[in-house]
Amino acid sequence: MTHGRDEIGQRSETVRRANLGVIVRELYARGPLSRSELVRRTGLTRSAIRVLTGELATAGLVTEGQSPLLGVPGRPSHMVRLVPLGAAVLALEIAVDSSAAAVVGLDGSVDGWVRRERTRSDDPEERAAGIADLAARVLGDRAVADVAGIAVAVPGVVRRHDGLVSMAPNLRWRDVAFGEMVARALGVPGPVAVANEADLAALAELHRGAARGETDVVLVSGSIGVGGGLVVGGRPLLGAAGYGGEIGHVPVHPAGAPCRCGSTGCWETEVGLEAILARAGRPVAGGLAALDGLLREAADGDAAALGALDETGAWLGIGLAGLVNLLNPRLVVLGGVFETIFPFVTDRIEAELDRRVLPAPRALVRVVPAKLGADAPLRGAAELAFEPLLQDPARWFARARATPERRSA
Ligand SMILES: [Zn+2]
Repeated sequence: MTHGRDEIGQRSETVRRANLGVIVRELYARGPLSRSELVRRTGLTRSAIRVLTGELATAGLVTEGQSPLLGVPGRPSHMVRLVPLGAAVLALEIAVDSSAAAVVGLDGSVDGWVRRERTRSDDPEERAAGIADLAARVLGDRAVADVAGIAVAVPGVVRRHDGLVSMAPNLRWRDVAFGEMVARALGVPGPVAVANEADLAALAELHRGAARGETDVVLVSGSIGVGGGLVVGGRPLLGAAGYGGEIGHVPVHPAGAPCRCGSTGCWETEVGLEAILARAGRPVAGGLAALDGLLREAADGDAAALGALDETGAWLGIGLAGLVNLLNPRLVVLGGVFETIFPFVTDRIEAELDRRVLPAPRALVRVVPAKLGADAPLRGAAELAFEPLLQDPARWFARARATPERRSA
C-alpha cells in the first residue's frame, strides 16, 4: 500500500478543484453571497468555504468583505463576490450581414465591444480573418492568451465538440471547420468553441435575461432561421452530438414550403422572418427594415399587416404547443424577431396553447418576450466561453500563473 498516501492526495486534490468550481458557479449564477449563504448552498463546511474562497481571492477571482473598490458600506462582512475582470472572455459573432466582438467579464460586464458591417466575402477564411481583426481591436493591450475562453456564434448548424459548421445556408457554408479557422486566425491552439447563434441567444437569456433562475425552459429565437435552447431540469438538452434543440426544423406543415435544410414545412418556413414578410406581401429579402415597416402599419391598424402577424402567431402557437406537451416547461421565452413582434402575436399564441396543450402543463407555462435584444448571441458566446473556467477554475488560474510576464506586460 505504498501508493496509499498519493492516491488520497490525488483524490483530495480532485475534490478541492471540484469544490472551487461549485463556489465559482454559485457566485456566477447568483451574484455576491455571504459565507453563510455559500455554506448553505454548497453543503461545504464553513472552514472549507473560508479556505477555498481565500484561494480564489489569492488568484484574483473573488474579493471578500468590504474591499475599498468593490465592497458596499454597511453590508455584513465576508460577502464574497467575483472580481468583474478577474477573468475575461472573448465573445465573437458571425452574423449574416455583420461581425461583432466583445471582451466580457465574470459579472457580464462588457470591457470592449465592436460591431462592423460585413465588408468581405462570405468565404469562411475571410470571415475568420475579419473576426480576428475585430478581436484584436477589443482586446487592446490584452494578449489573446490572457482570456479565459473564446467562443463564436454563427448562423448555422454546428457540431459542438470541434466547431464544425455542418451547414449555414445564409453564408452558403457546408462542412466548414470554422473552430479551427478562427483559432488559426487568432493564433491560439484550436479549435475555439463555436455554436449556433439562436442556441447562444437562448443561453444568454437563461443566464442573464428573461429565464434567469429557471430550470425548465423553452427558449426560441427567430431571425431568418429559427433556433433555440431547451433546458430540462437545469441542463441544456443537446443530444448525442450537440445537434439537439434544432426546433426550427421540427416539421409542422406536411404540405408546407421547402426549407433551406432540404425538408419541407419545417417550423421556420412558417414563422421565420422571410415567412412573416412573405405573408404580408413584402419582399422576403427585406430584412429587419421591412419588418419595422410592417410593425408600423400593424400599429396603425392596417388589416393586412395585422392578419399576417396573427397567422404567424397561430403557427408559433402550434409549434410551441408540441414543445410544451413534450417538455412541460415553466417558461417559454421568445427572442430575436419574436421579441419584436411579441405584442402582436401573444394573444393568438395563448389561444393556440389553450386549444392544443394538455390542461396541467398548460396551466403551468408562461410565454414571455426575451430581454437581451440583438446582442443576445454575442452575450451567449461569452457564456459559452466561460464554461471551462466555471467547470475547473483551478486549471485556469494555474495557467494564468504560468504566464506572469505576459499578464504584467
Ligand atoms: Zn428545415
